[in-house]
Amino acid sequence: MNDLQKKIKDRIHAAQRVLVTSHVRPDGDAIGSSLALALALLDAGKQVQVVLSDGVPANFKQLPGADMVRKKADGEFDLIVSVDCSDLIRIGDALDGYHAPDIIIDHHVTAEAFGTLNLVEPEAVATASVLIRHMHAWGLAITAPIAANLMTGLVTDTLGFRTSNTSPESLRQAADLLELGVDMSTLYYRSLVRRTFEEAKYWGTGLTSLERADGIIWATMTLADRKTSGYTGKDDADLINIVSSIDDAEIAIMFVEQNAEKTKISWRGLKPHVDVSQIARQFNGGGHKAASGAELSGSLAEVRERILEATRKILLLHK
Ligand code: 5GP
Ligand code: MN
Repeated sequence: MNDLQKKIKDRIHAAQRVLVTSHVRPDGDAIGSSLALALALLDAGKQVQVVLSDGVPANFKQLPGADMVRKKADGEFDLIVSVDCSDLIRIGDALDGYHAPDIIIDHHVTAEAFGTLNLVEPEAVATASVLIRHMHAWGLAITAPIAANLMTGLVTDTLGFRTSNTSPESLRQAADLLELGVDMSTLYYRSLVRRTFEEAKYWGTGLTSLERADGIIWATMTLADRKTSGYTGKDDADLINIVSSIDDAEIAIMFVEQNAEKTKISWRGLKPHVDVSQIARQFNGGGHKAASGAELSGSLAEVRERILEATRKILLLHK
């Protein structure tokens, strides 16, 4: 066991009251990894709070432990752990009034070392995969409910084991979780396939906005679109996965209006030579080579022009 691993094990072992947190607009890996770690810490006899600024989206509410998630921390903690979150700002207001995390567990190539102990393994397909690698050595057991959460992280971050980084290791990890009795088909369906009527209507407005130029394909989703469709999330309801399946583009981008001054951007690199994390970094965002995001100040129209310009430049550099 290396020095970092030993320190993490010791911190976990010594802790009584643990706060587990992750990023705003949490995805399947953020929720799955938070709940897996929290349930394992509870099994180890610790008091645990899971704090996520935006709570749990509807499609993950049935995961074991989802009802323990709160939006604000309450009380004192001797250990704060952040999972699947690459910088402090992206935790949102979950840690307001508390110190920065003691332990970071992540897999983003752009991860900043904002914790005391920083375990970042960018070649892992998901933070859930990092947890599976190490939990046993930290003295944390993987039970069936924990396995369901870890499987959700693996399945969602690999879009159902079809992203280019899907590895033999990730499939072996999934096989091990299946052996613990995980119902992968149901988890897969709930997290990647099933859509509400409102989400489908929202997709409709987003698809109507589709544009294409200079190797870039993009769609825009406004506050008005969310109002008309009745979609209550703050994200694109995963429409980016549809937009990035369209032929003939090198980069797909999604613009999601957050309010009059803030816009959320998602990039997907559709060709092996494109690294969208480079563009996201320019705007204080981050992520992975093929999937990155950022949140920018400015009106939707103004931010869109700025981002399209910068993305065009990066594509020209690669030509
Ligand atoms: P998405 O576009 O689906 O929100 O995110 C794609 C990837 O980029 C994910 O790995 C996500 O964690 C990361 N990401 C998305 N938005 C941000 C952001 O504002 N800041 C950082 N650092 N990473 C982001
Ligand atoms: Mn995530």
